[in-house]
Amino acid sequence: MKYTVNDHGYYGKFGGAFIPEMLHPNVEELRISYLSIIESPQFKKDFDYLLKNYVGRPTPLFLAERLSEKYKAKIYLKREDLCHTGAHKINNTIGQILLAKKLGKKKIIAETGAGQHGVATATVCALMGMECIVYMGQLDMERQRPNVERMRILGTKVVAATSGNMTLKDATNEAMRHWINNPTDTHYIIGSVVGPHPYPDMVARFQSVISDEIKTQLTAQEGNPFPDYVIACVGGGSNAAGAYYHFLDDEHVKLIGVEAAGKGVDTGESAATTALGKVGILHGSKSLLMQTEDGQVIEPYSISAGLDYPGIGPLHSHLFDTGRVQFISATDDEAMNAGIELSRLEGIIPAIESAHAVAVLGKLSLDEDDVVIVNLSGRGDKDLETYIRWGKY
Ligand SMILES: *Cc1c(COP(=O)(O)O)cnc(C)c1O
Repeated sequence: MKYTVNDHGYYGKFGGAFIPEMLHPNVEELRISYLSIIESPQFKKDFDYLLKNYVGRPTPLFLAERLSEKYKAKIYLKREDLCHTGAHKINNTIGQILLAKKLGKKKIIAETGAGQHGVATATVCALMGMECIVYMGQLDMERQRPNVERMRILGTKVVAATSGNMTLKDATNEAMRHWINNPTDTHYIIGSVVGPHPYPDMVARFQSVISDEIKTQLTAQEGNPFPDYVIACVGGGSNAAGAYYHFLDDEHVKLIGVEAAGKGVDTGESAATTALGKVGILHGSKSLLMQTEDGQVIEPYSISAGLDYPGIGPLHSHLFDTGRVQFISATDDEAMNAGIELSRLEGIIPAIESAHAVAVLGKLSLDEDDVVIVNLSGRGDKDLETYIRWGKY
């Protein structure tokens, strides 16, 4: 298992837990207990039950015939867009809230940028009757008003972070501060495969249901559990980690990660971490991130809020470093065109994040009998304003 986390919380040279001393007890409690809890039969039973009956899993694996015809390969879409709340994120929030309950926590906190992770967290907190506070940068609150109101309807308190640029990083700082002050009764739900160990491993395990289902579904549809390619977009990396997970040691399965090039990798307005990043510490782990010569985090840019993140998690940093995953980037324009194309060819309007994954189909040299999985991480409802503003359809 070359690609799983080691006992010290590292993937190769990436990972670890670089946290303030004050947070140590919280993270240590998680580290010591997470595996025994999530591998217990009762936890698995509860998790599977909710994934099936609440989220709507298994999500379909759909053979996209018109897309296949266009790109001359057998292209399947893994329909995470059909999950309750519209994206894969809820797989993780369900797992973490069940874990928080087992740890006896009464309250949940989370940070959110565009609000998608906040909505998924608010949703499961309502379901479980847990008190929930979501920290969000004040600027993001103004930009993502519908998601703020969704969280409020669900009974979550949304707190504005008013320091710094008033965006995700500042919201993260506020959430950390809250956790330090409320260590015993509160669990902090991180929304991607980022943060200090054990978060990246924990989130990857919760999302691994995606590749588990793909294997079963491909066996039924193709008579073989292994595709030739798995393609997924990478923000922090959770939907990609889930889609790759059960194929990591099968080196004949080519894994493709798609980053947001924004206006172009060299324009200064990009979020293509592997192209531009260097090793550093971000949100509690050693990973690749976009930074200046003296180590200041560079503001990322992408048209899709979910990919607008200056780093990638430690697992993906390692997958890039070892060459196990090939990273490609797609610009805003390429992603928007791919989103319209998928809408026209298959009747599916994808999240703009997911459209980045579709956008690289034309950049791979595919064979007619290649079986290609595109992980469609979310649906486009939340992005309607962006599609309208872009206008070319
Ligand atoms: C949040 C989000 C992403 C990016 O996050 P990952 O952790 O990289 O998966 C991608 N797609 C959708 C639809 C999202 O909501």
